[in-house]
Formats: sequence, structure tokens, C-alpha cells
Amino acid sequence: MMYHRHDAIIVGAGGAGLRAALEASATAEVAVLSKLYPTRSHTGAAQGGIGAALGNMEEDRWEWHMFDTVKGSDYLADQDTVEILCREAIEAVYELEHMGLPFDRTPDGRLAQRRFGGHTRNFGEGPVQRSCYAADRTGHMILQTLYQQCIKNGVRFFDEFHVLDLLIEDGGCRGVVALELATGDLHIFHAKAVLLATGGFGRLFKITSNAHALTGDCVAIAFRRGVPLEDMEFYQFHPTGIYKMGILISEAARGEGGILRNRDGERFMQRYAPTLLDLAPRDMVSRAIHAEIREGRGIGGKDYVHLDLTHLGRDVVEKKLPEISDFIRTYLGIDPVKELVPVQPTAHYAMGGIPTDVDGRVIIDEQNTPLPGLYAAGECACVSVHGANRLGTNSLVDILVFGRRAGRHIWRFVREADLLPLPFEPEAPIRSEVSRILEGTGRESVADLRRMMQQEMMDKTSVFREKAGLQEVLDHLEELRERSRKIRVQDKGHSFNTALLEALELGYLLDLAEVTVASALARTESRGAHYREDYPKRDDVNWLKHTLAYRTPNGIEFRYKPVVITRFHPEERKY
Ligand SMILES: Cc1cc2nc3c(=O)[nH]c(=O)nc-3n(C[C@H](O)[C@H](O)[C@H](O)COP(=O)(O)OP(=O)(O)OC[C@H]3O[C@@H](n4cnc5c(N)ncnc54)[C@H](O)[C@@H]3O)c2cc1C
Repeated sequence: MMYHRHDAIIVGAGGAGLRAALEASATAEVAVLSKLYPTRSHTGAAQGGIGAALGNMEEDRWEWHMFDTVKGSDYLADQDTVEILCREAIEAVYELEHMGLPFDRTPDGRLAQRRFGGHTRNFGEGPVQRSCYAADRTGHMILQTLYQQCIKNGVRFFDEFHVLDLLIEDGGCRGVVALELATGDLHIFHAKAVLLATGGFGRLFKITSNAHALTGDCVAIAFRRGVPLEDMEFYQFHPTGIYKMGILISEAARGEGGILRNRDGERFMQRYAPTLLDLAPRDMVSRAIHAEIREGRGIGGKDYVHLDLTHLGRDVVEKKLPEISDFIRTYLGIDPVKELVPVQPTAHYAMGGIPTDVDGRVIIDEQNTPLPGLYAAGECACVSVHGANRLGTNSLVDILVFGRRAGRHIWRFVREADLLPLPFEPEAPIRSEVSRILEGTGRESVADLRRMMQQEMMDKTSVFREKAGLQEVLDHLEELRERSRKIRVQDKGHSFNTALLEALELGYLLDLAEVTVASALARTESRGAHYREDYPKRDDVNWLKHTLAYRTPNGIEFRYKPVVITRFHPEERKY
């Protein structure tokens, strides 16, 4: 067992973790722990862009961005936090430009911007060009830029360190326990503050755009350690994943003019969203695709539709969407300039997660009481700027704006706070969990159990949900959990034991699946990404509130928290 002491520990080296590390390292001594090599974090996969009302192409205002975000969220986002998001987005983008991020530019040298779903001018009048981008590798460029800056600032990196536990004692966070992948050794990191920035958990579902590493580890660990999870019933399905594979075809493809078509070649979005068409918010487009498929208008009656880029011409496709065309050629063996691309909705983004305030402090109840020393930012957190449905380009804004705010709060906090003693034998619970898994002699395989969970979540907890199906998933999850106690891993070694980590990740996924389904079962209305066929209407009288799910000895218990409404009042949605 090895012991380390730092002012602050940041778990996760994606955009949120790196932005926070950069800010905090101005005065504090910071270590970043990441289970992946930092630049392999999922932020690097973000293609489309980052939204900010710069107004470089046409008039734009942060208030319009705020309106779109609130409306896109189906009025569940907290409007005080959305205001911060949209105001500070502008500075966040210019800051990246000044750090050297190679954004695409207009002919006169300003940052270029393009259209994206749900972004409008003048409070919903028509589409606006708001997304800043570096071709379709925006996230890759953000990650590289922030990593360089962190290295310059002397941030200490522990790469391929897998965090397995949070040390919380007397209501305060004092560090983490991590497993070093190369050796299998356990390390204790003792700190005044810990920031969780571990990204999403799309691996709950069979078809997902998310990388294999996105298993929600620290969201589940926080939950096990008594932190509630907010709004977990809201999970976004992106309309255009490559058929059967889930690999994302960014909304940028539709931003550049791509069109969705059914088996008759019809541009069916005309019927569902006459103004915004193919660029309506993602929940609407995903439901429309599912509806077409159900009514037999999928391609050849199957469960996919076509994305048509053929009218855009080779120049636009190759220059504006180079990575996407590459994926299409590599994975489908077709040329998007000439052929239609088969797509289906893919599990993409967790709106819910660890509840925080606007400074990234983790909060533990409906009075917003913070848990001292514990912070969260990025996709694993719920601040809540995305409410029931996130608009495209708003996650990259979220990770930068709230990563920076959390980093800033951390350096103020560690200046004042004392380093508190660690609990007795801090690594003991994890050591026994690891031994239990390695010594397991059962017959169950981790991969099989994971596959069954993913299929079940996909079938009954995705774009459409209803009571009986959700109840079936809950029962099935309980059975899977029972079976997961009888797993056997083949690799009993210490070095790079990924089988052991996958077994631990399965446990996290099962926990998060259960909270997701239980939260979805409790919410008897439809809002944003949560669509209940048995309750198809939004119900503001009873459900204009955030879910807080707690783990208790008697199972999951719910409390609810009011939504903060400042400027925009819920009304019937129209697009
Ligand atoms: C294919 C794709 C395209 C996207 N395109 C866009 C887009 O164009 N615009 C937009 O706004 N959003 C986009 N998104 C969403 C956005 O990219 C993500 O929500 C965002 O980048 C998440 O950043 P993050 O810093 O929270 O987490 P991530 O970048 O996922 O980083 C998570 C980090 O946590 C670490 N970690 C996880 N678990 C552990 C553990 N147990 N121990 C130690 N470390 C751990 C990982 O190593 C990693 O470093 C896209 C997402 C996908 C999947």
C-alpha cells in the first residue's frame, strides 16, 4: 500500500478534470488520477463543436442561448446555472483560442460557427450559427490544448490509476483509494479536496456512442458512500449512431445540411418539427426515428433510417466532416458523398449524475447542503444545466465553464482547510472486495452479465418507457446482481488485470442501471429524454422538480428538489 499526499486530487483527465486542474494548479498542488492515458479520455471523441453566442456569423446573444438551453431541457434545467453556462461560454471559448486551440475561422479571421440542433435566434424564431469548431475534431483539440497547459503548470499526473473508493469520514471527503493498473498495487491519496470528473456511463446500454471506459465508476462509488444522484431518469439518445454499432455521426452532419429519410425517401422530420426539421432537439428526433421504425417506415422495414449527405457535395463532406466520413468509410465501407448512411438512435449522454452547486461542490440534499471537500464537474455531475435533455455543443461548454469554477473554488478551499486524518485502514473495504473477486469460484461470466444488462436497458429503458417494462428491468437487474456475486475471473494476476477492473465496473453499472430505472418508474410524466408511453404528457403541476435518489438499507428512496426558474416559464413546447 502506498501513501500520497496532495492539496487536491482530481479524478478524471477529460475536459472537466483538466480544466479544473489547470485552474486549481494556479496556487494549489494538484494531482490528476486517470484510468486512461489523459488524451484518450472521451472528450477527445467530441466532434461537433462548442456552443457560445459569439455572434461571429450573424447576430447572437447569450440570452438566446439561455432560452434554447432551458427550452431544450424541457424546463427542468435550473435557470440560474444556465445563465452562468451561457454567459461564461463566450469567455471559455476565447480562453481556448488564446491557449492556441486551432479553431476553424471565417475568411476575415474570426472564429467560424455553424448550426446545431435546437440553437435558435431571437427566442426560437429560426436557426442560428452558434457552434465553434475545429473541423469535426473539436474535443480532440480541447483535450490536447488543456493537457499541454496542465503540463506547463506542473500538474502531477497518475496515468492508468483506477479510483475504487472515496474516503468520506464525519461528513467530509479526505481522499481516494486507487489501483495502479501496471502493478495491481493499491494507493491511498490523502487530500483536502477531491474532484470527481469521470465522465458518462453510456455503457449501461447496448447501442452507445460512448467509449468502453465510460462505466460511471465514481458516480456509483459516490452513491454507495451516501451521496444522492440527481435526475438519473434522463438519459439522452442521440438520433444518429451508425446502425448496429452506435458509433456517433455528429449532429454537425445535419448542421452542415444532412437530412434524415425513411424507406420512402421522405424527409420525415417535416411532419414532426416543421420549423427546425432535422435540427430539432435530440429527444424529438430520436422519438421521430423510433416512431417511423415502429410504423414500418424504417429502411426495408428494419430498425434504422437513412442520413442523406449526398446533396452536400464532396467539398463540404471532406472539409467539414473529415472524421465522420472516415468512420463511415471504415465501418460501413460506403462513400457518404454518394451513398445514404444507415443510422439509429444511440445512447449518448447522461443528463443526471452527482448533484453540485455552481462552484462544483457536491450537495447532498434538497437544501443544497455541501459535502465539504468533495466536488464534481463534467458529465458525471448534475449542476443542472441540461435538465431533461441536453442541446448539442452544450456539454463541452459545461465541462469548461463548471470545470473552471470547481477548480477556482478548490484553490480557495484548500488554502483555508486543514488536512483531516484518514479513516482507520482506509483501503480495507476495497482490498476485501478485490480479493472476493479474484478468489471467486462461481460460473458466471462478467461479459455475459453485462451483455444481458445492456440488452435489457436498451429494450425497455431507452427512447420509450412504460411501467410494466421498467418493472421487468428492475426484477431482471436484481437477478443479475445475485448472479454477479458468483462470477469468476480468469486472470488472477496483478499486472494489467483488466478482467478484475471489468468485474468492478459491472458492479458500478448495475448500481447505476437500478437508479436509472427506479427513477424512471417513479416519474409518471414525459419530459425531455424521459418518455413514458403510459404518461405521454409533461406534467408541470406534479413533476416540475428534480429527482434525488438515495441508497438506503431498504432500497432506493426518493426526495425531490424544486427547479430554479428565473426568466423563462414553462409553456407548451413548440418548434
Ligand atoms: C462520440 C461523442 C461525441 C460528442 N460530441 C460532442 C460535441 O460535439 N459537443 C459537445 O458539447 N459534447 C459532445 N459529446 C459529449 C462530451 O464530449 C462529453 O460529455 C464530455 O466530453 C465529457 O467530459 P468529461 O471531462 O466529463 O469526461 P471524459 O472526457 O469522459 O473523461 C473522463 C475521465 O475520467 C477518467 N475516469 C473514469 N473513471 C475513472 C476511475 N474509476 N478512476 C480514474 N479515472 C477515471 C477517465 O480516464 C477519463 O480521463 C460527445 C460525446 C461523445 C461520446
